[in-house]
Amino acid sequence: MGLTRPWIEHFFVGPLQMRCSVVTDIATGDTIIIDGGDEPERLIAWIDAYEGRGPDWTTGPEDGHEGNGLPSRNVIALVNTHAHFDHSGFIPALKAHYGVDWYLHPDDTFLQTLAQQSGRRYGLTLPEPAEADQAFEAGQTYRFGSIDLQVLHTPGHTLGGCCLVLPVDDGPDHVFVGDTLFAGSVGRTDIANSGGDFELLARSIHTQLWPLDDDTVVHPGHGPLTTIGHEKRTNPFVGDAAGPGGTFGFGKYA
Ligand SMILES: [Zn+2]
Ligand SMILES: [Zn+2]
Repeated sequence: MGLTRPWIEHFFVGPLQMRCSVVTDIATGDTIIIDGGDEPERLIAWIDAYEGRGPDWTTGPEDGHEGNGLPSRNVIALVNTHAHFDHSGFIPALKAHYGVDWYLHPDDTFLQTLAQQSGRRYGLTLPEPAEADQAFEAGQTYRFGSIDLQVLHTPGHTLGGCCLVLPVDDGPDHVFVGDTLFAGSVGRTDIANSGGDFELLARSIHTQLWPLDDDTVVHPGHGPLTTIGHEKRTNPFVGDAAGPGGTFGFGKYA
């Protein structure tokens, strides 16, 4: 079952301007945070009270925020596409505030333990890495309050990389792809300790993402939104022109 009128907010957080997505069911207030990698105080202030610096871009309800009959938000879970530090470094702060479970694919557990040392390479001081409370399983649909999310395991950028599909009843579905796919690019496969592999990445995209509806809105971990159909037709690394194996190249983002 899909949502009607999902409210999806985008916050570009941290020095790598990673996209954190906050998905709310407007009917119930149930909310999940996807890739809460940085700026936890900003996210918390906005989600809990609509105060402080809000989203960088939003599909918020046209009738406004609080005071217009919207329920207050109830954060049900923290979920991640993968464990690179820009996506997961400040999960501990969100976990401490909301007291909810954090979901990650187990093949990224090792990578997660390295968050602090990876962050140091960018001059960042990160908290002791979080440990996932729940293991995402490939192909499963998870129910977070009134929000359903289907997990596609798409290794290639990292071993445990996943794409998270949000079914919507009254519009196109949405897929949160982390660093697997970008508008006009793909995730890097040369990052230390990540298990990156371009052929595996291309296969993941071809077998897991291309079967989605063409109008599915793609929310990458960095850069602009796109759609499955557009990338299938035009992506220079894994689109139609690149052939069945894809065309190797280094992607843009970490
Ligand atoms: Zn990233
Ligand atoms: Zn990454």
